[in-house]
Amino acid sequence: MNQTKILNGQAGATTGCVKVLFPLPLFKPYDYLAPPGAQLRPGMFVIAPLGPREIPGVVWPGTGGDDAPAAKLKAISDIVDAPPLGPDLVDFIDWTAGYTMSPVGSVLRMVMRSGDVLTRPAMQTGYVRSGAKPARMTEQRQAVLRAAGSVPMTAAALAEKAGVSDAVARGLAKAGALRAVEIDPDPPFEAPDLDRMGLDLSGDQRFAADMLQEQIRKGGHVTTLIDGVTGSGKTEVYLEAAAEALRRDPAAQVLILIPEIALTLPFLSRVEARFGAAPAPWHSELTGAQRRRTWRRVAEGQARLVVGARSALFLPFQNLKLIIVDEEHDTAYKQEDGVVYHARDLAVARGARAGFPVVLASATPSLETVVNVDEGRYRAAGLPSRIAGAALPEISLIDMRETPPERGAWLSPPLVEAINKRLSAGEQSLLFLNRRGYAPLTLCRRCGHKMTAPNSDTMLVEHRFENRLVCHHTGFSMPKPSACPACHVVDTLEPCGPGVERVAEEARARWPDAWIGILSSDTAPTPRAMREMLDAMQGGEIDILIATQVAAKGHHFPGLTLVGVVDADLGLSGGDLRAAERTYQLLAQVTGRAGRAEKPGRALLQTYQPKAAVFEALAAGDRDAFLAAEAESRFRLAFPPYGRLAAILLRSRDETALDRAARDLAAAAPNGDGVDVLGPARAPIYRLRGQARMRFLVKARRDVNLQAYLNDWLSRVKTPSSVRRTVDINPYSFL
Ligand code: ADP
Repeated sequence: MNQTKILNGQAGATTGCVKVLFPLPLFKPYDYLAPPGAQLRPGMFVIAPLGPREIPGVVWPGTGGDDAPAAKLKAISDIVDAPPLGPDLVDFIDWTAGYTMSPVGSVLRMVMRSGDVLTRPAMQTGYVRSGAKPARMTEQRQAVLRAAGSVPMTAAALAEKAGVSDAVARGLAKAGALRAVEIDPDPPFEAPDLDRMGLDLSGDQRFAADMLQEQIRKGGHVTTLIDGVTGSGKTEVYLEAAAEALRRDPAAQVLILIPEIALTLPFLSRVEARFGAAPAPWHSELTGAQRRRTWRRVAEGQARLVVGARSALFLPFQNLKLIIVDEEHDTAYKQEDGVVYHARDLAVARGARAGFPVVLASATPSLETVVNVDEGRYRAAGLPSRIAGAALPEISLIDMRETPPERGAWLSPPLVEAINKRLSAGEQSLLFLNRRGYAPLTLCRRCGHKMTAPNSDTMLVEHRFENRLVCHHTGFSMPKPSACPACHVVDTLEPCGPGVERVAEEARARWPDAWIGILSSDTAPTPRAMREMLDAMQGGEIDILIATQVAAKGHHFPGLTLVGVVDADLGLSGGDLRAAERTYQLLAQVTGRAGRAEKPGRALLQTYQPKAAVFEALAAGDRDAFLAAEAESRFRLAFPPYGRLAAILLRSRDETALDRAARDLAAAAPNGDGVDVLGPARAPIYRLRGQARMRFLVKARRDVNLQAYLNDWLSRVKTPSSVRRTVDINPYSFL
């Protein structure tokens, strides 16, 4: 670690007192003595003693001096030689902690990820051609010299490229034909080429791009929604906005958030094609070294264009000037563990606080965003038609009560017929079912026992591929037993209902000559495996792809003309206030995969509820009618965005303690004007990983400061340590 060591043990020689925040679940920073003569300012990384350990933290705003008299304070031991966090990020960390009601140290932890990013790695030795010829030349040496160029590469990289061993490269260095140079193991990111022209934009695209560029030139915060149907070219529009922000300010940094890891690789290539340089990536599949490179280069202000998943919002940007949130409606933006937050909402807050524009893009914007546009808080630019005149697919409903599938099958006759037609025309079909595995429920047909995860009320899902039963909530898995664990009779466990693997089984039996692909996060567990399947689909090699939502979004399959939704009703069950909205969004996205090129597309939705408003609106292509009905029902119930909502979850292994804690909490709820406390009630999944769970739902009028109410309430009750309590502001999960 490259640190400036500062003399410790001079605590008596009082200099200033500063606050230091640690990346730990702490609600406040602590006071420390600044080292004599040191110029500390908020955002700087330091090392300070906390209990028995010396750990990295960040100097925090405030003068300090509240914790203890200066004489009793411990001193900061080191200052870390790393770029300090910018003032707008420090402000954003504080704000996020207050908004999400999380310990501010936990929010800092999301920024620091691990102390590792502060460790500057040792320089490596790279080699370039020196121009001299070695005295002895071999074929292997020639191969290495061919592989080497003017950009330094390590011996290992050279050897790999040349298909020889490291020793050959080192031998050439000894012989003087390669010259050793130092290289940074975190190479800088190439600068985006801002003179490069994008595609020729359509009229609507140009209008939207001009509007965004104008806002960027004017400066200041405004949130704009690019509201464009699937395939309307939203990406090209917001990349123009990114280009403008980068051009205006040579130090500006731009962040593009995308929801799905499966989309990252093709998306990165697309951005690279636009700017002639790969953007800095940030997502959970990066290796430790890749993470460190992006983090460090972002902190230095060197990575100017970053494409990442929701947590990229907490990268240490020095000069963030624009955030773009693609597919803003996507629930993948909600982080449910640790600090519970919604990345879209936080992105808007960050832009508003730091005074830069935020762009949201979607074909199916969330009701929250639509209402913000309607009420004038956000601006909007519409892209009502697809690029190059491609038409939106025609969507029809299949009433499963009238044309049911044959016994033991899941595809109804009209859907089978439609696929037959595509197969004979050499066109592709996508069968969509948002359920992984073979069967969602395994039931003993003799005693009725349902297979559940141990100490949990969650069902085990059969995965026939691996012959295992898997819990999708806890991750538990076991080989499928031959006998029922309750009645011990052999061969009575029966799979109930379909998952993608089961639909694939039916398709293979029906169309033995077709090339059938199956795609879910289990069947393609790595991004590369997923990419291979998506490439095969894109290249037209697959006849029928059976897939979960990983294939629903963002992909461009030119030969796809039919989308069949196996169970359109799937997302409507369960008491989730956004169930209909989510169903609409997902089905609009997945059906939007069809007919994106020359040939028109069709979509067929299998449903037992063809009269449901969401399906009627999809079939009529009337998004506004759906949104109006949805807005009306949320308004009536005073649910978001017309009211505020928070969930409190209590969980414990000790049910008696849990019941008491829930009762005590309920009794302490203050009367608040415009606040309703619902609960405590058992959570729908009551037992999870051995813990019992109780929930409260707090509903408030929009003008109520919900966090203040909750802080007041929660400070009145001490919950025993055996009971864990979490708060979720604006919950998306109600399980
Ligand atoms: P969306 O995000 O709205 O679904 P995309 O931005 O992915 O749409 O664009 C759909 C396809 O159209 C992509 O293959 C894209 O390269 C192409 N495209 C977008 N704009 C143009 C344009 N102005 N000219 C030609 N092709 C375009």
